[in-house]
Amino acid sequence: MEPLAVYLHWPFCKSKCPYCDFPSMGRCDEELYRRFEDYLLRDLKQSLEEIDHRHVIRSVFFGGGTPSLMTPQSIERILDFLFQNFSLQNNVEITLEANPATFDLEKMRNFRHAGVNRLSLGVQSFFDKNLRFLGRIYDGKQALEAAAVTSQIFDNFSFDFIYGHQSLKNLLQDLSMAVNFGCRHVSCYQLTFEEDTPFYRRLQSGDIKQMGESRAIKFHDAIGDFLESFGIFRYEVSNYSTMNYESRHNLTYWEYDDYLGVGPGAHSRISSDGNKKKEMIKISDPFLWEKALESNNTFSLVNTLTEKEKLTEALIMGLRLIKGIKKENLYSKISNIVVDSALSLERLLFLSKNGLITEKIFSKSILQLSEIGLKKMNSVVEMLCSNL
Ligand code: SF4
Repeated sequence: MEPLAVYLHWPFCKSKCPYCDFPSMGRCDEELYRRFEDYLLRDLKQSLEEIDHRHVIRSVFFGGGTPSLMTPQSIERILDFLFQNFSLQNNVEITLEANPATFDLEKMRNFRHAGVNRLSLGVQSFFDKNLRFLGRIYDGKQALEAAAVTSQIFDNFSFDFIYGHQSLKNLLQDLSMAVNFGCRHVSCYQLTFEEDTPFYRRLQSGDIKQMGESRAIKFHDAIGDFLESFGIFRYEVSNYSTMNYESRHNLTYWEYDDYLGVGPGAHSRISSDGNKKKEMIKISDPFLWEKALESNNTFSLVNTLTEKEKLTEALIMGLRLIKGIKKENLYSKISNIVVDSALSLERLLFLSKNGLITEKIFSKSILQLSEIGLKKMNSVVEMLCSNL
């Protein structure tokens, strides 16, 4: 049975950023935080019934929200429980997402002692002007201090940046500072305007503008070139790393392997009975999820995916990887008939003639998008999955 990735969702942030549509609530309430730390452990214990006695863990990821609002003690309690009940792979990756305004040197040290071995810091920028625009709750000085503390405590850490609102020169200054901190993994996301966010309303009213397509491509290419000159390569649409510092946890999603999601709104994909894959989603409202814990019924959906749904998911996730998807990996998880019908010679020749996939599918049986294909990923997936 393949090793499992475990995701724990912390649903609170100190305050809600105006562009964010992640499942999180802005709450500044220590009492509430302490209560939910206990609930998260309780949900983890209850969720184990769903995972078919699988006992090797490859990664643990505390995401959110802002899980660095949790205490190191509660992180330790959760990890201790996992350590006692499972075997961990030798190089198990344990990541904590952190907001620069939520820790100091001592707290970060305690996270490390609790067992966290990878820190993902949501820097977004080191410049006051950008942070103010994004509605972040810290300034450039705090971002720099948080980055310094992170790099002092961790060998394996990642910085997140958002672009689309500043000049290219300014973004490259941010990236250059990340490199100077010794950062070996960077995530760069283009600012998007999601419905029901204050930024979306500002966009609608004409107060702010969305980045045009050609400018977005220019930024994207410049980010890749800049980081590559420091040996940090793009391995996923928005993620860059030096060799062996890719996010092992996120690779689980992209490679369509199994993961257990714990906490409000968390998703799971668990294989069972040969090639069957179960999709499970937890109740997303934290307070309804809290109530549902009482009756040990925290799922809002449990469903066995069809072969076509599995293939669609595997393609949506896997084609984000620059290295592409090995056909044999699809065969190992999805009905061969469905895979062969999606990747028929006729479809592949069409995609190849239109410059959307590379020739690797013919020489090495690897389905890999070209640069153009990466920009039209949704259409490629739609085409491959139609009429199955
Ligand atoms: S800190 Fe992160 S998760 Fe929380 S509101 Fe801001 S962007 Fe969203």
